[in-house]
Amino acid sequence: MSRGDAAPTDPVVVALDVGGTGMKCALVRPDGVAVRTERHPTDAARGPAAVVATILDVAEGLADKARADGLTPIAVGIAVPGVVDEARGVAVWSANVGFRDVPLRDLAVRRLGLPTALGHDVRVGGLAEARLGAGRGTGHVLFVAIGTGIAAAHVVDGHAAVGAHGAAGEIGHILVRPDGPRCGCGRPGCLEAVASAAAVGRRYAELAGEAADAPVSAAEVAERAATGEPLASQVWQETVEALADGLASGQALFDVATIVLGGGLAQAGDLLLTPLRAALHERMTFHREPQLVAAALGDEAGCLGAALLAMDAVRGHDHQEKR
Ligand SMILES: [Zn+2]
Repeated sequence: MSRGDAAPTDPVVVALDVGGTGMKCALVRPDGVAVRTERHPTDAARGPAAVVATILDVAEGLADKARADGLTPIAVGIAVPGVVDEARGVAVWSANVGFRDVPLRDLAVRRLGLPTALGHDVRVGGLAEARLGAGRGTGHVLFVAIGTGIAAAHVVDGHAAVGAHGAAGEIGHILVRPDGPRCGCGRPGCLEAVASAAAVGRRYAELAGEAADAPVSAAEVAERAATGEPLASQVWQETVEALADGLASGQALFDVATIVLGGGLAQAGDLLLTPLRAALHERMTFHREPQLVAAALGDEAGCLGAALLAMDAVRGHDHQEKR
C-alpha cells in the first residue's frame, strides 16, 4: 500500500475490515490513501461480545495514534461479513463472526464520539474497486468475490446497492446446477456450491478419490489444469462454465461495463480470466459483453471501502447532490 505524505492536520478515517480470522485496519485519507495499516486477530471463537470489544479497542487505538501523529480522525468505517443493515448500522447475522443483531454503529459512536458507517465486507470491497481500483472510471461495475463463498456488489456511480434487507449481491446463491452439490444455504446447485475456491478443492478431492494424497487448493487445481492434468482440467473447466453461467445471469440483470473478480480464486489470474472471458462471450446473445478484469486492490479493498463508506456518510446529502 502506498503511503502518502500527510500534512499535520490532515483528516483521516479510521477503517476496519473484520473477517472471521483477522481484521485489517487502516487510517485512510479522503483521497483513498492509507497512511497507517494494522492487522489484528479476530479470534471469533471467543464469541461476538469479545469480538465487538476488540473492534472498539482497535478503532479507539487507531484514532489515538492518528491524533498522536497530528492527524484528525473524522469518522469510523467498519466492514463486516454476513447480512448488514447499513441504514440502521446493525450487523444482523454472520456465520463466521457470530454476530446476531449487533448495533455496531451505535456502539462505535458511543465509544469514539465519531460519525460511523457500517458496511458489508464484499459491498465495500466492490465500492473500493469501483472507485479506486480495477473498475475505476467505468460507472457500472459488478464486483464478484470468489473465496470460501461467492458474493457480489453492484456499484453504480460509486454507490453499492444494499437491498431492502441488507442482502443484495448474493450471486453465490444463483442456481446454476439443479443436480449439483448441496450449498451451505441448504439448496442444491448454487454457484457457490460448484465454483467457490472451497468447492473446487472439494470436487477435485472427490474425483481423485483414493488417488488423492493431500487436500488440493483451488489455486493448485488451476495450475495442474494448466499443465494438462486431466482431472484438474475437468474440474477447472466445470468451474469456469459454472462461473460463466453465474456471471451471465449477473450481466443480464445489471448490464455493467466491467466485472471485477476478487477473492482467492481470482489470484489464479489469466488461468481463470482467459477461459472465463471465452465462456462468458459464448453466453452473450443480445447483451453487451462486459470487460472482465482482476481486482486491483487485493485484500485491502474492504478496508479502503469501509473508509469510503464512512466519508460518504460524513459528506452526506451534499455529496449525493453534487453527483
Ligand atoms: Zn446457496
